[in-house]
Amino acid sequence: MMIKCSFCGMQFTEEQGHSACGSCPLSNCKLIKCPNCGYESIPEPASLSFFKNLFSKKKKT
Ligand SMILES: [Zn+2]
Repeated sequence: MMIKCSFCGMQFTEEQGHSACGSCPLSNCKLIKCPNCGYESIPEPASLSFFKNLFSKKKKT
């Protein structure tokens, strides 16, 4: 699975993104880190909408 950094536009593999985030204190960190600029992104668009729903629910209540 190839990931394109939305910040600098560099394309890298999911594996490369995980190893770039190797120093992360969270062992089960799901974020993908760009090896070029260090920009962190969430690999699946589905999880992004999950967080969006979570925040919109919190705002209303
Ligand atoms: Zn980047």
